[in-house]
Amino acid sequence: MSRINRLPDNVANKISAGEVVQRPASVVKELLENAIDAGATKITVIVKDAGKELVQVIDDGGGMDEQDALKCVERFATSKISSAEELDTLGTLGFRGEALASISSVSHFELRTRRKDDRVGLNLRYEGGVLTERNDAAAEEGTSVSVRNLFYNVPARRKFLKTNATEFRHIFEAVKAQVLAYPEIRWQMLNDGEELFNFRSSDIYERLNFFWGEEFAEGLIEVHEENDFLSLHGYVGKPGMLKRQKNEQLLYINRRVVQNRMLSQALQQAYGELLVERQAPFALLFLGMDAGQVDVNVHPSKLEVKFEDERSIRSMFYSVVKRAVRVQDFSPDIRESPACAGFSGDYPEKLRNRDAKLTFQELPSRASTTDELYSNYRSGQAAGNPFSGTLVSEQGEILPRRPDLFSSPSYATGSAREVSGFVEEGAGPDAPDAKIWQLHNKYIICQIKTGLMIIDQHVAHERVLYERAVEIMDNNVPNSQQLLFPQKVELKPWEFEVFEEIADDLSRLGFNLRVFGARTVVIEGVPQDVRNGSEAYILSDMIEEYNRNAEKLKLEKRENLAKSYSCRNAIMTGQKLAPEEMRSLIDRLFATSMPYVCPHGRPVIVRMSLDQLDRMFGRK
Ligand code: ADP
Ligand code: MG
Repeated sequence: MSRINRLPDNVANKISAGEVVQRPASVVKELLENAIDAGATKITVIVKDAGKELVQVIDDGGGMDEQDALKCVERFATSKISSAEELDTLGTLGFRGEALASISSVSHFELRTRRKDDRVGLNLRYEGGVLTERNDAAAEEGTSVSVRNLFYNVPARRKFLKTNATEFRHIFEAVKAQVLAYPEIRWQMLNDGEELFNFRSSDIYERLNFFWGEEFAEGLIEVHEENDFLSLHGYVGKPGMLKRQKNEQLLYINRRVVQNRMLSQALQQAYGELLVERQAPFALLFLGMDAGQVDVNVHPSKLEVKFEDERSIRSMFYSVVKRAVRVQDFSPDIRESPACAGFSGDYPEKLRNRDAKLTFQELPSRASTTDELYSNYRSGQAAGNPFSGTLVSEQGEILPRRPDLFSSPSYATGSAREVSGFVEEGAGPDAPDAKIWQLHNKYIICQIKTGLMIIDQHVAHERVLYERAVEIMDNNVPNSQQLLFPQKVELKPWEFEVFEEIADDLSRLGFNLRVFGARTVVIEGVPQDVRNGSEAYILSDMIEEYNRNAEKLKLEKRENLAKSYSCRNAIMTGQKLAPEEMRSLIDRLFATSMPYVCPHGRPVIVRMSLDQLDRMFGRK
């Protein structure tokens, strides 16, 4: 007698439900996909008891006739494909014909549907996958699917559901992902009888602000790129001011939500040094490509995908995001608290309060460009500065307005080592007239056309040195300066290991080093920017920093070295700067690709407008 039996469909469905339906949120996801595939223009999601009691999705899509309605809960019953080849031209979110079969086998399931031209609709009820009721019904056009008492017949599963808060969060994330991907659909959601949202317009900003808070969308950078093979559009967050630690990244391929390590990593790398430790940028990005380029049939919930040509996709994705991220002005505005607007009387008390309430706005509300701020600064200086608009090198030659650090020999040959790597403007403007001040040997304050800007001298210099270091290493720019008296350094064993790993790049950077004995290194030359007197310990300092970055931040080698180098060589907080040094620093800062954020992700510049000052002093 044969021992092998074919499982009855309702048993098979129940088993495969284990894969497709993990929790109420999986039901929500599948039902939403079906509603979208049905061409809905309005979708309502109703949830009770975090989906444990009820998940209902109502759409105004195409609906089903009686035959299809009866068939749709059968295993592998789909209207979306009829052959495996069609996966290559797939234009729908569903294709397996598995979802409704699985869901109906582990719940009390109700389907109500009517096509536009049908006079009456149909109502079907199932219990554990078995049809229990079949009626004509006066249904609205479209389809409504109700899933009650999920896992009522799989107690082990039901027991493993998490708290309502957790299950609801998963549901909400699943809905949010679709609400943001389909702005043309009017979405409504009700939870335990309370309306959470009802988006009637297709304004994506309204939705972003709803989910992440007022003014959130204004702090985003729009991404838009298209070529013959791929398209990428959406929004990413500005770095520097992004304090969110939580991963808020929504990635889509052909409007399907996906999780993809390669893309998340490329995104992270595109921000590179702009992020501080463990920060992750916000992203809502839609990648479009030919359906044949991507295999969506590799994961039970269709969440993971496989690319035909992963490398090209990565490289386009990376470079588009990187470019978008680096052209913006990220400097935070200083915002006075609303409490001090229109302030009058009660002088000391309020003044103290007001000082305490000066806060940085998390995300700048204005996306001006780097050029704008720089010219703003330039014209702010114009009043008392006979050399405004020009930079003069030591040799008296006029440098370009926004000096490229390497286009001018005076920057590259660094004849100004004395002043910690700055180029001195020998014939520069007189200090008394210049609208530029140093505060507590730490911050540089300067007048700009619209008010004032404050620059952190250390991080500004770090940014300058960082970019210069990367440039030097990548392009083999000669950058070494021989030491009159070579220095011997004995490295600890672990330091020597790190040293060997980065020796090549160190020499590209301008360190002229010779190994002598087991762990001794002789420093014969150093890069231009190394401060006088720091040659002996700079190497161990950098190695230490490099090692820490490698462990904590998992940085790419050269990026890490540039970061360690700039951090250890930048002028310190506490160092007094001459006006021409400050001006030179500002010019060089604005010649970098990213003046607003230091290589560690901290802000370099903050601004305060005259308008804000006027309001603080009750002038407005
Ligand atoms: P799939 O979406 O993979 O085809 P499902 O089990 O989710 O499989 O759905 C089975 C079929 O039922 C779909 O192919 C579709 O024809 C039909 N269907 C499901 N939901 C809806 C809906 N909301 N509106 C119209 N048709 C639907
Ligand atoms: Mg489906």
